[in-house]
Amino acid sequence: MAIPTLRTVDIERFWAKVDKAGGCWTWTASKTSTGYGVVGLWRDGRTIMVKAHRMSYFLANGADPAGMDIDHTCHNTLCVNPEHLREATHKQNMEHRAAANTGNVSGVRGVHWAARYQKWEAQVKHHGKSLYLGRYDTVPEAESVVVAKRLELFSHNDADRAVA
Ligand SMILES: [Zn+2]
Repeated sequence: MAIPTLRTVDIERFWAKVDKAGGCWTWTASKTSTGYGVVGLWRDGRTIMVKAHRMSYFLANGADPAGMDIDHTCHNTLCVNPEHLREATHKQNMEHRAAANTGNVSGVRGVHWAARYQKWEAQVKHHGKSLYLGRYDTVPEAESVVVAKRLELFSHNDADRAVA
């Protein structure tokens, strides 16, 4: 959900609930059931709930992270230190999936969408056989496995030729 235009009072209240004593800046007020800090912003007589780490990202970067997943590099869900936050690849990944679901493939050789598993499947062809290399959440992960396997097979082929 988009974050509304912030007011000075929102920002002051936000930082008043943050403990910056450690490397992680700990959110000390309300939490979601999944362990994320949550901020209530009063607008037009109702409260808009915004995740605390997303609000911190917004304040630090001046950009609304709407449509993006914001990851904690510290894996501390209550942390709001912008140094520990980064954009995840979720949106990009969902775009890849959307493309795959409309009949396109990943655009990467050896990587295709396995709708049944909701994952990207990696495989390489070798001596006319398909070698299955597993399923991955993102295209880059699957691609890196495919590339590594191709290199491995290629170097083995080289070795075979050298011996022959
Ligand atoms: Zn942290």
